Amino acid sequence: MTASTYLQVAIDVPLRRTFDYLAPAGVAAERLVPGIRVRVPFGRRDTVGVLLAVKSSTQVPGRQLRRAEALLDEHALLPARMLALLDWAARYYQHPIGEVVATAMPQWLRSGRAARLPRARSWRLTSAGAGVDTDALCKRAPRQARLLRRLAAAGALDETELLADAPGGRSALRRLEQLGLVAVCEPAAAAVVAVSAARAAGPPLNAAQENAGNAVIAALGAFQPFLLEGVTGSGKTEVYLAVAAAALARDRQVLVLVPEIGLTDQIVQRFRLRFGAAAVVVLHSGLSERERFTAWAAAGRGQASVVIGTRSAVWTTFPRLGVVIVDEEHDLAYKQQDGFRYNARDVAVMRARDERVPVVLGTATPALETLHNARQGRYRRLLLPQRAVAAGAPRVELVDVAGSALADGLSPRVLRAIAEHLDAAKQVLLFINRRGYAPVAYCRACGWISRCGRCDANMVYHKRRGRLICHHCGTEQGFAGNCAQCGAEHLLTLGQGTERIEEALCARFPGHKVLRIDRDTTRRKGELETSLASVRDGVARILVGTQMLSKGHDFPDVTLVAVLDADGRLYGADFRATERLAQLLVQVAGRAGRGERRGEVLVQTRFPEHPLFSVLFRAGFSAWAEAALAERSQAGLPPYSALAMLRAEAKQRSPVHAFLERAAAILRARGGAPVAVLGPVPAPMERRAGSYRAQLLLQASERAALASAVTRALPELEALPQIRRVRWSIDVDPQELL
Ligand code: ADP
Ligand code: ZN
Ligand code: ZN
Repeated sequence: MTASTYLQVAIDVPLRRTFDYLAPAGVAAERLVPGIRVRVPFGRRDTVGVLLAVKSSTQVPGRQLRRAEALLDEHALLPARMLALLDWAARYYQHPIGEVVATAMPQWLRSGRAARLPRARSWRLTSAGAGVDTDALCKRAPRQARLLRRLAAAGALDETELLADAPGGRSALRRLEQLGLVAVCEPAAAAVVAVSAARAAGPPLNAAQENAGNAVIAALGAFQPFLLEGVTGSGKTEVYLAVAAAALARDRQVLVLVPEIGLTDQIVQRFRLRFGAAAVVVLHSGLSERERFTAWAAAGRGQASVVIGTRSAVWTTFPRLGVVIVDEEHDLAYKQQDGFRYNARDVAVMRARDERVPVVLGTATPALETLHNARQGRYRRLLLPQRAVAAGAPRVELVDVAGSALADGLSPRVLRAIAEHLDAAKQVLLFINRRGYAPVAYCRACGWISRCGRCDANMVYHKRRGRLICHHCGTEQGFAGNCAQCGAEHLLTLGQGTERIEEALCARFPGHKVLRIDRDTTRRKGELETSLASVRDGVARILVGTQMLSKGHDFPDVTLVAVLDADGRLYGADFRATERLAQLLVQVAGRAGRGERRGEVLVQTRFPEHPLFSVLFRAGFSAWAEAALAERSQAGLPPYSALAMLRAEAKQRSPVHAFLERAAAILRARGGAPVAVLGPVPAPMERRAGSYRAQLLLQASERAALASAVTRALPELEALPQIRRVRWSIDVDPQELL
């Protein structure tokens, strides 16, 4: 190794730069492959970095240059294409490359552990096992029967896959082994049989599905984004499955992104049923480090045919990617809201471009950005105008609640409708976007209200737990109904949350099981699944939930949906508030009448005349979106301009403003006329978790002008003495102006 070889290394620190090192003593030049991990000294500690490039010169003076200690991998963990994507993302999102690269790797690897797959065993049926009548066995030993069926379907299965979502599976497996019905086989066998075991064909596609699927399939092998716009229940998932099957038939892998873990469930099951359990690997934040790494590595080695995952799965590496699918592309969950603030939907499109594969953005309610891209011809629009099965679109009715005193937030009209649908042996679904019992407690005697001491917000009363809890910072205190200030008893609790609605419904409909689904009732693993099962079994008759419930779940017996608090977002400060409300209302309405009977949707509002409702419910989401795009265009808002937000916070107000004032001056100087610098202004909730927060909004009609202004200004901002007294961040394409 000559002395003129330098390693350019990305290190997981919040600095907008890379670090140069000498190669470890005595390693051959061929081993210095970009994308491998290197152990390097950093300050006074050791850390694991990723080799980005090998260079023949460095700016670092000789005596400061340190030597890398060891190379941790034989082969690149991050292929050149992924490194290029990460480099793009770091520049696009103005985020330190070291943190960006770290995002792309499972924690298991970041901490320097061996990249070898933990050797999992695979299982197959013995010939005795293949002869078992699983239906008969199912009566005595359902768990054993289930494992046998899985093996019969897949041919052979990796142990983790075999035991996935199989409670009590491990002991059942041991028993099957003792009985000689299953046996261990070579791990490679499992990967090979995975796809060939595909079976369980879906329903024949209808004409619209067929068209959409064929359009994407025809584009396999080249970059082409598609917007698959289909009303809820129109059979988008069947189109995904058809496209995936075509990609798999060409020996290509498939990446499917979904917004949330609770959602993965149904879609994962459908993919597993279609392609065999072993072919489908799941990636989400609920996995252990080891499970995450195993899944990531299976994709990276081409062993997993389909990866279904949440946001960060967009960084999974694939040797043979064939197509990318982004389900519910409008969902806010794709945008990371802290640290590296990327939008996985947008990264997915970039990724597809790099890999030269099609990308399908599916939704019933496209984001306005996506629609704009479709109108500009950048994305091809595919429509599924009708539900695949079921009756027509649900009937929507606005319930005017202006000036009427509601019993626990429920209007007489809604109560009557609930009774009718329950009498018809149907299920009903009620949405209210706040958990807890009541958003505030108030003392009439002394005027005390349940303010959070650390936020500009009220603490929410959680009756079941007997506590007041701040939903912004997590501060809590016990509450037994007494005033914290004067001791008066029986304080008023104002407004409604899911708990209060649940209580009111239990009292009014005593013969019917009420089920509440929100973050409080689904915190523990498996709780959401149990709840959803009791809905599907028909045990639960009335469901009360937050937005969580609006997504994806298919409940054929729900015929009535009521939205109790639509108004909160009609006049929100954020220009996207109405877009979110329109999407929510359409998604929610899509929960009604998925079975044979036509659904009914009631929306309680004090503003029934608001144009959002009339356009949305009379003319439909597309018409609303056209109007909204026209408004955005007039106001020069995204997608007709680019935004970035510089946020800062500190324990005192003055350093925040001092920093942002200086930052604004620099950005104005760097951006010139094309970049508008608005602010600084306090954040809509100025104080949160004890910090004062403020922001600068940057706006430009050309994205490039904005990007270059920020890129040029950042080194100057980072050199400001005022920056040391604040926490700050830059958010490119901010989704929430909070
Ligand atoms: P989406 O993803 O658009 O909400 P799904 O793919 O979940 O829609 O389809 C809704 C329901 O319709 C599912 O129960 C699905 O099995 C069924 N379905 C979809 N396509 C067809 C079809 N071509 N024929 C019969 N049933 C279908
Ligand atoms: Zn708080
Ligand atoms: Zn009081």
